[in-house]
Amino acid sequence: MIEFSLTEEDKSLIEHAREFTREFISPRAVEYDRSGEFPMDICKEAFRQGLMNFHVPEKYGGKGYGILKGVLSMEEIFAGCTGIGTALFANGLSQFPLILHGTEEQKKEFLEPMTRKMIFSAYAVTEPDAGSDVNRISTAAKRDGDDYVINGTKWWITGGSVASWYFVLARVAEKRHTGFIVPADSPGISQGVKEINLGQHASNTVRVTFEDVRVPARYRVGEEGDGFKIAMNAFDMTRPIIATGANGITRTALNYGLDYSRRRRTFDKRLISNQGISFKLAEMATKLEAARMLTYKAAWQADNGQDNTLASAKAKWFASDVAMEAAVECAQILGGYGFSNEMPAEKLIRDAKIYQIYEGASEIQKMVIVGKLLRKKEVGVEL
Ligand SMILES: Cc1cc2nc3c(=O)[nH]c(=O)nc-3n(C[C@H](O)[C@H](O)[C@H](O)COP(=O)(O)OP(=O)(O)OC[C@H]3O[C@@H](n4cnc5c(N)ncnc54)[C@H](O)[C@@H]3O)c2cc1C
Repeated sequence: MIEFSLTEEDKSLIEHAREFTREFISPRAVEYDRSGEFPMDICKEAFRQGLMNFHVPEKYGGKGYGILKGVLSMEEIFAGCTGIGTALFANGLSQFPLILHGTEEQKKEFLEPMTRKMIFSAYAVTEPDAGSDVNRISTAAKRDGDDYVINGTKWWITGGSVASWYFVLARVAEKRHTGFIVPADSPGISQGVKEINLGQHASNTVRVTFEDVRVPARYRVGEEGDGFKIAMNAFDMTRPIIATGANGITRTALNYGLDYSRRRRTFDKRLISNQGISFKLAEMATKLEAARMLTYKAAWQADNGQDNTLASAKAKWFASDVAMEAAVECAQILGGYGFSNEMPAEKLIRDAKIYQIYEGASEIQKMVIVGKLLRKKEVGVEL
């Protein structure tokens, strides 16, 4: 059975996120883009309205929403501003290692409070010398009695300076990558200044250094050596959400392009009357639909306990490339205004680029896809 309709609950969730975006995000997206400030007041309001941390299971006080609900509602928020959307959603990436592999005590100690108070967390895996190739990390965790002692530097950590705790990937020994929950106020942790990035300025990205940071063994997530698998399992859950962020950009680019080309006149006719322009919009609309279908499938598989690694990789790669292309085409439709920071297209271009890089760059998604293809005997219709 293939079902394309939404439940009443999904529809009202989408409407809620759309209203929130209209009232709190869209009017302030440019302001936060220019100031580069973390949108704490918007996060507070989103938390108050139940729009943060909604994947935390009901047992721990959360809403227990599946990935598809996250995908549907977050597209609304990302369509308003992906920088603010990232500030709101970044917790998810560090929560999923615990949701999927944490102990009861860990979930109660670290997830439950996030449903009562606005608390941030961050996923600290990348290092100066290890991004795509996660196995190259050099952050070390050494067992010392009932504790581990962590040393190393993590780079590009989203939400790193507002986080109360980190999910940290460290190596206990060669090829024994292990995940840890590390409270941000542990002695020996220092955070760098906010990185000045090309786009998504409202999102906070910093370097985090761990110097002889002591964590109790009960904060280890899973067994020693499970860390790589745990870190990747979290991506299977969050890549559909990243893809929905890219879809939010494509949708905004399409809406601006459509609106502008209807109003703008050249050579005595509306811009949209030229196929050179209208076909761009037709392509954007079709690619957005295709990207959404891949995204929904990846989310649906996650919610139904199916292996969604392949679908997530396809969705994340395709949606990111479509968003980048749509943002550039939107600027083209706007002509000179497309190059101006008074108009939205240049922000969309800057914001879109990161989707092709973080949570596994496009090349890495293609490596995942081809890896799966090589293990299959035949490529046929598969749903
Ligand atoms: C704004 C921002 C936020 C981020 N947030 C986080 C976060 O919260 N937590 C975290 O842990 N990390 C985070 N990252 C890090 C991000 O995930 C990495 O930057 C990303 O995985 C790429 O790694 P790298 O930068 O080391 O590039 P590299 O791994 O050095 O790759 C460089 C380029 O080469 C390509 N490449 C690499 N290997 C191959 C290959 N075998 N074949 C073909 N092409 C290849 C890559 O796709 C990339 O285009 C963030 C980064 C940014 C910029």
